[in-house]
Amino acid sequence: MKKLIKLFKKLIPLKRMKREEHGDALIIVAVSMVFIMGILALVIDLGLAYLSTGEQQKAADAAVYSSGRLLPVETGNTAKINQIKNSAINYASLNGFEDLTQDDIILGKIRNGQYTEIRVVVDKTVSMNFAKIFGVDYLDLSRSAVAKLSPVIRTSGVVPIGLTKAEIEARIASNNLTHVTLKYGVHGGSTSFFGALDLDGQGGGASDYRIWISQGYAGEISVGDVLLEESGNMVGPTYQGFDERYSACTHFGANSGGPGCTVSNFDPSCPRIVKVPIYSFGADKKTVVVEGFAAFLLENQTNDGYITGSFLNMVSNGASSGNNVGEGTASDFGLYNLILSE
Ligand SMILES: [Zn+2]
Repeated sequence: MKKLIKLFKKLIPLKRMKREEHGDALIIVAVSMVFIMGILALVIDLGLAYLSTGEQQKAADAAVYSSGRLLPVETGNTAKINQIKNSAINYASLNGFEDLTQDDIILGKIRNGQYTEIRVVVDKTVSMNFAKIFGVDYLDLSRSAVAKLSPVIRTSGVVPIGLTKAEIEARIASNNLTHVTLKYGVHGGSTSFFGALDLDGQGGGASDYRIWISQGYAGEISVGDVLLEESGNMVGPTYQGFDERYSACTHFGANSGGPGCTVSNFDPSCPRIVKVPIYSFGADKKTVVVEGFAAFLLENQTNDGYITGSFLNMVSNGASSGNNVGEGTASDFGLYNLILSE
């Protein structure tokens, strides 16, 4: 029995100690709970905030992609720069971000005096709920998108007339790009080549050729493709095809006696704009090799087979090299793809 009491006495401090330990554990649990709840609160707040940046990214992408189609733009052309920036602001607003300013839109990558890249930054302030406990009242979140021009190396809708690489390079170098002859008519030379190309390689086919002039070739043409020269002047189909395309312009008063699209004022979707291959002559003098693409606004034709137009720098559909304008080996003749680059 004594032994038992001894043991009991021994047990009392032990028990007290245990009770104290139990209290400590309670405190630890309580502190941990607060800590865990705090972390959870932060995670929920931050999670919700970052989830909402998806919308921000979408708005930034839409803004660069839509306004970037107006590139390239001369660095000194304030009117067009404002038009591009306002277009970006407008598209961000359509996607739910209404307080973009011109400072949120940055034009860059200057080549030959023109901006070839656009960056849009969409900022947002997200107020916190739970995280306020820790003194975090709001978070500033920023998302940006960048779109740049890259020369087209493959496209559809090309017309069967074009220019030699040597000629267009000389014209670009001397800035002599208006009222360019895209197809020759009657000439005194010995060659039977008048600038008409056979895009499908089947030979002949005046009716195909007329449709290619008026609507563009439906297939794709790539840099490096070898095209047959169409022998002969093709006066009739050239004239008809040009006429169909030219009279299809509905912009700038074309339907009411106005001039329609001209090189100083044009709608980028106008049928008067043609995509032409830029080529070099093949060794056999019967073929040409595609070196790149350019865009021209058709201006005039004669009834003996001449076509003239003025050069445009513009964005079109098709595939691009991915290179920046002025970089890499791909030829750049002013026809570009707009690609998201970040
Ligand atoms: Zn037009």
